[in-house]
Amino acid sequence: MPKMKALAQLLQELEDALVVCMRCGLCQAVCPLFAETGREADVARGKLALLDGLMQEMFKDPYGVYERLDRCLLCGSCAFSCPSGVRVLDIFIKARAILSGYLGLSPVKKAVFRRMLANPRLFNRLLDWGARLQGIFIKPVDDLLGSSCSRVLSPILAGRHFKPLAQTPFHRVVPSLNTGPGAGKPKVAFFVGCLIDKIFPQVGDAVLQVLEHHGVGVFLPEEQGCCGIPALSSGDTAAFNQLVRHNLRKFGGQPFDYLVTACATCTATIKKLWPMMVLDPSAEEKAQIADLVEKTLDISQLLVEKVGLEPAGSEGVAPAEILTYHDPCHLKKSLGVAAPPRAVLRANPRYRFQEMAEADWCCGSGGSFNLQNYEVSAAIGRRKRDHILQSGCATVATSCPACMLQLIDTLSQAGAKVKVKHAVEVYAESLKSRP
Ligand code: SF4
Ligand code: SF4
Repeated sequence: MPKMKALAQLLQELEDALVVCMRCGLCQAVCPLFAETGREADVARGKLALLDGLMQEMFKDPYGVYERLDRCLLCGSCAFSCPSGVRVLDIFIKARAILSGYLGLSPVKKAVFRRMLANPRLFNRLLDWGARLQGIFIKPVDDLLGSSCSRVLSPILAGRHFKPLAQTPFHRVVPSLNTGPGAGKPKVAFFVGCLIDKIFPQVGDAVLQVLEHHGVGVFLPEEQGCCGIPALSSGDTAAFNQLVRHNLRKFGGQPFDYLVTACATCTATIKKLWPMMVLDPSAEEKAQIADLVEKTLDISQLLVEKVGLEPAGSEGVAPAEILTYHDPCHLKKSLGVAAPPRAVLRANPRYRFQEMAEADWCCGSGGSFNLQNYEVSAAIGRRKRDHILQSGCATVATSCPACMLQLIDTLSQAGAKVKVKHAVEVYAESLKSRP
C-alpha cells in the first residue's frame, strides 16, 4: 500500500486538477463507452462530478466510487477533446491509486501484480508453461487471423476469439542484443513489452529487421519487465513502482539515442505515467526517467523522423491489396502520433491505403476493461469492425498489440476475411521483397 503521505499528495493534486472541469458535457460526444450505454455515470463529466469531494465519498461508499471509476477504457478520448484541457486520464489514474490505497487490493490482484508481473523471470516461466499447456483448454478457430477459442466453459475466456500465447516468445529467440550503429546512424534501445514478447513475437522480429536494414544499432537488455500499466490501471502503485524501477535498472544510464517500442500503450506509459506515478524517486531515478521520457518514440516516429523511410519502388509490383489503419488511442490521443504510422504503411507499394471512417474511434479494448466488461467492450469493437469492413480492406494495420487482440476478436467472431497486422510488419514485408 502506498504511504499515506504519498496518498495525501495525490489527493491534493487530484483536487487541483478537478476544478478545471466546467461540466460542459462535450466529452459525451467522444466517449466510446457513453455511446454504447448512454449512462452519465460512464462519461468523464459524471465521473469527475463523483470525484469532486472524493474525501467524503471515500468514507461513505468507497466501493461504489471505485466501481464507477473502473468502468472506463482509459482511452483519453475525453481529454483529447476537452475544451478546458482537463487532464482526465491523470485524474482517473490518481483516483484509482488513492482508492486502492484506501481499500487495499484483493489477494488475487496482489498475487498477480506483485508476485508474478513484477517478477519478470517468474512471469516468463509461468507463461512458458501456459504456452505448453494451453492446447488442452483452447482450440483454433480462424486460420487467417490465427485466433482460438475456449474448449471449455470459462468465465475468463468467455466467448472470446483470441490469439494464443506464442510457442516461442520473443525473449527466447532474442534474449539480448547489443549492436553498434552504421556510420551516421543512431543507436536505439528496444523496449519489447509483454504482448509483443508473449503473443506477437513476429512484431518484435519485424522491428529488428527494419532496424538492421537501416543500420540502426540496437540495445536489448535481457529480462525486461512490463511497462507497469496493467498494475497501475488497477490502482496497484506498489507493483507499478517495482516494475518501473526494474526497467530503470535495465535501461537507465545506458548509451543510446532513442528508446523505441512498437506498443502504443508502452510508449504512452513510459512518457506520461512513469514521471507522474513513481513514488519518492531518488534524484538519480528522476534524472533517468526524464531522460527516457525525452528519448522514447514509437517505431514509426523513429523510422519517419529520425532514420528516413525508404519507400520501395512500385515497378513490377502486383496489383494493390487494400489496407486500412486503426489509430490506437494511446498513440493518437495521448501522444498526438497519427501521421508517421500512415507514412510507414504507404511505403509498401503492395498495398493501397484506404482510410476507414472513424479511424481514431476506440476499438474497445481498454486492457483490463475488456476482461471485466467483455460485453460492452465487444459492442464497441463491433462499431470498429463495421468501419473496417466498409473500407473494403483485406488487411487492417495498427500500432498497438492490445488493439490487435481486440481487432482479431471482433473480426474472427464475424468470420471476416481480413488480416490484422502491425504497421512495422507491413514495412518489413516491403524490405524483404527488395532486390
Ligand atoms: S471533462 Fe472537459 S469536456 Fe468533459 S465536462 Fe469537463 S470540461 Fe467539459
Ligand atoms: S477515458 Fe474514454 S471511456 Fe473513459 S470517460 Fe474518457 S472517453 Fe470515456
